[in-house]
Amino acid sequence: MLRQKAFMKKTRSGKVLKVVKEHYLRDDIWCSVETCKVCEHTEPVLSAVPSINKAFPLPHYIIPDTNIFINQIDVMEHTLITNVIVLQTVLEEVKHLSLPIYQRVRDMIANKEKRFYVFSNEHHRGTFIEKLKDESPNDRNDRAIRVATKWYGNHIKDLNPRVSVVMMTDDAGNRDKATADGLQAISVKWYIEALDNTEILDMMSSAKDLDDGQKTIYDEHLSPAHVSNGIKSGKYLQGKLGISSHNYLEGSIYTKINGEEGTILIVGRSNLNRAVDGDIIAVELLPKSEWRTTPTGVVVDEEEEQAEEESLKAEQEAAASAAKEDTVMAEPEDEKTATAAVETHKLDTPQPCGKVVGIIRRNWRQYCGFIDRKSVHTPAGSSAPVNVLFYAMESKIPKIKIRTRQAHSLLGKRIIVAIDSWPRTSRYPIGHFIRALGEAGDKSTETEVLLLEHDVPFHEFSKQVLSFLPVEGENWVVQPEHFAGREDFRSLNVCSIDPPGCTDIDDALHVVPLANGNYQVGVHIADVTHFVKPGNVMDQEAASRGTTVYLVDKRIDMLPSLLGTNLCSLRSNVERLAFSCIWELNKDAEIVNVRFTKSVIASKASLTYEEAQNRIDDANMQDDVTSGIRILNMLAKKLKQRRLDMGALTLASPEVRFSLERDTQDPVDVEMKELKETNALVEEFMLLANISVARKIYEKFPDSAMLRCHPQPPSANFEKLEKAVARFGINIDHSTSKTLSDSLDNAVLPEEPYFNKLLRIMTTRCMMQALYFCSGAQIEQEFRHYGLATDIYTHFTSPIRRYSDVMVHRQLHAAIDSSVSYGDELTDKEKMNELCGNLNHRNRMAQQAARSSVELFTHLFFKNKTEEEEGYVIRILKNAFIVLVPKYGIEGIVYASAKVSKPTADSGETASAQSQPILVYNPETDCLQSTEPLAEGETPKTQVQLFQKVMVQISIDDDLKGGGEGGMRQKLKMELLKPWIEGISVHGIANKDDPEAHAVTSNKREEAPVQAQDKKRAGKRTKI
Ligand SMILES: [Zn+2]
Repeated sequence: MLRQKAFMKKTRSGKVLKVVKEHYLRDDIWCSVETCKVCEHTEPVLSAVPSINKAFPLPHYIIPDTNIFINQIDVMEHTLITNVIVLQTVLEEVKHLSLPIYQRVRDMIANKEKRFYVFSNEHHRGTFIEKLKDESPNDRNDRAIRVATKWYGNHIKDLNPRVSVVMMTDDAGNRDKATADGLQAISVKWYIEALDNTEILDMMSSAKDLDDGQKTIYDEHLSPAHVSNGIKSGKYLQGKLGISSHNYLEGSIYTKINGEEGTILIVGRSNLNRAVDGDIIAVELLPKSEWRTTPTGVVVDEEEEQAEEESLKAEQEAAASAAKEDTVMAEPEDEKTATAAVETHKLDTPQPCGKVVGIIRRNWRQYCGFIDRKSVHTPAGSSAPVNVLFYAMESKIPKIKIRTRQAHSLLGKRIIVAIDSWPRTSRYPIGHFIRALGEAGDKSTETEVLLLEHDVPFHEFSKQVLSFLPVEGENWVVQPEHFAGREDFRSLNVCSIDPPGCTDIDDALHVVPLANGNYQVGVHIADVTHFVKPGNVMDQEAASRGTTVYLVDKRIDMLPSLLGTNLCSLRSNVERLAFSCIWELNKDAEIVNVRFTKSVIASKASLTYEEAQNRIDDANMQDDVTSGIRILNMLAKKLKQRRLDMGALTLASPEVRFSLERDTQDPVDVEMKELKETNALVEEFMLLANISVARKIYEKFPDSAMLRCHPQPPSANFEKLEKAVARFGINIDHSTSKTLSDSLDNAVLPEEPYFNKLLRIMTTRCMMQALYFCSGAQIEQEFRHYGLATDIYTHFTSPIRRYSDVMVHRQLHAAIDSSVSYGDELTDKEKMNELCGNLNHRNRMAQQAARSSVELFTHLFFKNKTEEEEGYVIRILKNAFIVLVPKYGIEGIVYASAKVSKPTADSGETASAQSQPILVYNPETDCLQSTEPLAEGETPKTQVQLFQKVMVQISIDDDLKGGGEGGMRQKLKMELLKPWIEGISVHGIANKDDPEAHAVTSNKREEAPVQAQDKKRAGKRTKI
């Protein structure tokens, strides 16, 4: 049967079109119930005996309305919820309202165990309804859901065993209509409560709190229309909120103020007005009299906000007596916030400050964290629902209030929580529990936490992705037909040089002396794009992952390992497909010419850096491969010298590597990493290849080439560093990378050999992030790579582990072979821009995840240990300073204040910790100094300043039983031993226990932003 529906539609250009929609009603849509004999179904989804719930006498199928999916998706995903009929009406509405939730519903439908069945009620003759006159689309859809529920009820009423359907909606009006119609209808709360499962109860999203007489804490947010008008008129400013990592009550946006780009500070709870890190917000500037000086550097004192804990305690005690009654949380009247510690220094210039007046877009996600033990006061074993506070691992996120019945069993665990709302009456956002990950401090739990927190996709590759691998699997070999369009380089003495144990080898090299005295040098890169075709599911997955992520003890691959560690990997003594860059270089390593070609190679040797170095050093070794490495080494040194002469920077990062215990993979030793000459050898040729390829693809795709730039850092980044080194008589000229490079080379203190390295580490932190970009989106002057001192750059040499390189391979192939056909994925500026955005995000996250992994292993290493070490002050904050300990490559905060406990005025028994500053910040000198009064020209008795050498005691605060965030954050505890500062320093208790090291080693991923991307060697490591 065919129904036609015609309506008029106005196009964007103003034309009026008549649109006719055809709507087929069908008789072949089945109910999908296992026991139904009427319908012809091959694979019924709904089981014969579905779920039972105390609220209903009969086993039943659930028919949720749209809002159940939108508001309670976490509940719907729980394993207890099965046998659900997803109406087409509902699915379409969900898709329209939220694509991420739609995707989660689709995932559930695809998951056989969930038994979610999509019923096409809109095409079923028995359930399709026309919209009535005067009926709103919403009402029509609600009615459609009731009609479908009724149809199902009738259709299955005689089945054996007996079953029924239940409509689930939180709309009381809809439930009433359903009941009047003889249907079973229930709210999610009733349904879930009757399940008697505390976990799923906790997963219920909290209802939006209304201002029902509670005291409001925050100002109202302006309406979207009001905000948008205000932004247009210039009254409000728009930006993305970035919260300080040292103080969650201090944030800023970067935006245009009166036509000039600048930062607006937003300080304190009421000015932040419920905005969370990453939210897009509308800000109103405060009057100049309220502007503050640069407040960077105040660390939130964890002991503060005790008042909040007190109020929760009172609330829970009330809750315990009032059983399940919802209780109103008493908010403390006045709270000592960390911002009170922001002392305004008259010497600083005040910065624009603002207040959040509206939220344009929330950026809430799911957060990993833990429950604050201090917020749980009910007796152990109690399953009464209580409000407790949740700390996100990310310190920028405010505490989240969640309601849970499993408070005690969740203590000490890592859990995931989502924010539901942040009403004006609640000091903290209100959220709900999603799931528990495992015990805090456990290596696998903490690894999952760091992957989730850095948005690293780490699921197994799907069957669909794997279906795009070569059918021959491991038996794939180079066939005669592969030689078409390729040069045969199998006879060349190609070799690869990598860290020990490297299995994903994506580059190899060769050199041949030419008759004219020049050299033919080839860089051969794994031909990943032979296997990964544009647009298929495997390609999409790789594009989404963006990069392989290297953790201390494992690797999260971008490509399935059959490709990464086998078919693409340029292992020795097998034939492999490659993309080659071939130069003729003269004796001075200058390029005479360059060409690119697809090829077939057969590497003669896979060497480690050490093996390659030994070959160079061993005069007895005179084979072809070794002679080749010597020539390459000679050329690499010349290339490097020329780069340095051009102003390329040699930066540094405190790199360490762990020795892992063979079976448990626990760290047993940690040491500074040592680089060999051969690391630099490989690096030089990779840089040369990347630059040559960048020129080629830019020539072919001027508007859409995938390139990589590294912007020049603004002067302001160097201010503090310049001030600090001036006292050693050292001048840093950062006007160009060349002058900076020369300044760094000259900055040597004979009495302090580590000074130069330290300076390079600190200079690295003044740098900008290097970024992928689409050539059409920037002017040519901005293409420059500051750190490498080159006018153009890209990534070509690591396609196994970076998706940027995959795109660059495709562009290069199109550039050298006119017969190659390609789609708009290589030419569309918008698409390329979007891809660059994702790759930059993934890249940044991968670096941070790698760093977190090192941090995790550092913590495991320091477990039950206390060490005394030498360190250097590398950053001054207003009430603390940060010390770097080179031996372990770790940093820690030392507070410049002493905790003084004193009884509070109103209650003699509760002691509140207060901070008593011992040292205060002097912005003139960027030092922390003692507070005694000074005569003109007199230096303070005690000072803490940048580059100062100190002795610290390192341990791990892993008191998981403690309250607050202390123990659960497993923070590195750094205490000052020397110099002795009364009130701050401690007496050492170090006991040096030497662990038995049956060590296997592994590398740490390097962290310097400039070098890390290019000195790939350091980043590559493999499972042992
Ligand atoms: Zn049926």
